[in-house]
Amino acid sequence: MSTPFNLQTLLSSHSTDGLALHEQFINPAMAGVLKTIGFDARYVRGEGAYLIDDKGQRYLDCLGGYAVFAAGRNHPVIKDALKQAIDADLPNLPGIGLFRTSGILAQELVGLVPGNAGDKPEMVFFASGGAEAVDAALKQARIATGRKGLVHCTRSYHGLTMGALSVTGNHEFRDGFGELLAGTVEVAFNDLASLETALAPRDKAAFIVEPIQGKGVNLPSADYLREAAKLCAKYGTIFILDEIQTGLGRTGRWFAGEHFGMGTTWNPDIVILAKALSGGFVPVSAVLSKRWIHTKVYPSMNHCSRIQTTFGQNDLAMVAGLAALHVLREERLLENATAVGDYLMNGLRTALGGFELVKEIRGKGLMIAIEFARPRSMALKMAWDMLHKLDESLFCQAIIMPLMSDHHILAQVAGHRLDVIKLIPPLVLTRQDADVLMAALTTCVAACHRFPGPAWEVGKKLSAAAVRRFSPGEGGAPPRAVSGEPATV
Ligand code: PLP
Repeated sequence: MSTPFNLQTLLSSHSTDGLALHEQFINPAMAGVLKTIGFDARYVRGEGAYLIDDKGQRYLDCLGGYAVFAAGRNHPVIKDALKQAIDADLPNLPGIGLFRTSGILAQELVGLVPGNAGDKPEMVFFASGGAEAVDAALKQARIATGRKGLVHCTRSYHGLTMGALSVTGNHEFRDGFGELLAGTVEVAFNDLASLETALAPRDKAAFIVEPIQGKGVNLPSADYLREAAKLCAKYGTIFILDEIQTGLGRTGRWFAGEHFGMGTTWNPDIVILAKALSGGFVPVSAVLSKRWIHTKVYPSMNHCSRIQTTFGQNDLAMVAGLAALHVLREERLLENATAVGDYLMNGLRTALGGFELVKEIRGKGLMIAIEFARPRSMALKMAWDMLHKLDESLFCQAIIMPLMSDHHILAQVAGHRLDVIKLIPPLVLTRQDADVLMAALTTCVAACHRFPGPAWEVGKKLSAAAVRRFSPGEGGAPPRAVSGEPATV
């Protein structure tokens, strides 16, 4: 007699060996990091802005699966939509055949893009991951322009497939992978003169940029994106706006570019979405391109499948996307991101602004950074220098670790060699959650102002465990000095 599949029984029989399985079969180095920094809680459930462990402890999730959980975890409406899709026995993935749900989602997405029809991106290519979509966009740009060159920004993050990695300006991700795409040029973010120099030879297929850089939460100057779009038009380069992290409500608008005039004074040629579109359930990404680009990519029936991917338009992903958009709209989560984001940012400025180590609090909506800088007072300066000599990515762990262990709040360092903490919680975050977060951050930041003090012990602890330079970041910044690598200090 066959045994029925029972997920609960299976999970119960593995209630305590999650870390061991991870260590043995998935990534022992990462398992080591999680143990060392105290991020190895045994979560059993997710609910809205919270994760819940096997002892019933609730954790406020300000990392949000690297900005995936816009609508919160396990949103009942999205869950129900997916159950409906499964129960409907949809004709999923006909391969060569008509996909039923993708046209509906494509129409909705195009409807969200600001700007006039005919002048804005309005053809959609679906994929699963963000980097996969970036690769597709780069390929579209090369085909449409007949050029090879690609321009990207310092500190950009566009993903880790070979194409996306070639335009990722966080070079630590590139180490060891050999030659990437030829013809890429890196320019400083917010630097229009360098961009023009890079575009002037008229050999660049695309300029790819995040409206707000994820690594560090770097904001553009008010006119940067508009002027960059103009320069791209002037030199025949395709302007790709990577809204994978910022898109669909994170900053209080459907597209972060809208804060800077997108749809009114300029339009990207291609805009990319992913993360939040998944509803937190099914990986999905979308490349929205202007019609003329699309026509060049798929000029004839012979070329109709030139860029494609097996799971691209799968029904569960499309339904997750449709339901996620429904929830974002119905629950006015963009408005909530603005209101709670402003409340949190202003509150943090008041609570933390007076601390010597705090340099700046910045962001848009619920994408917020707290940047720290070298203090003035002697003892703190010594402690700061010591920690930075040990490793330039270490300081923020002195806040992230107690935030987790003492306050049960997940947050992340915004990237390698950055003294920046980043908050990207689900957009369902309430003012009460924000109050809890502000109080906890204030306690942890205050603790760093006592030297000697336990907060500064973090360096010793991490270097003893050889996880220096580990800065969890969206896209999974890797632990680079895990055991096995020689210690550098
Ligand atoms: N682009 C941006 C702006 C991102 O933030 C990310 C991921 O964090 C990516 C691209 C890559 O997406 P994925 O990790 O799904 O490949």
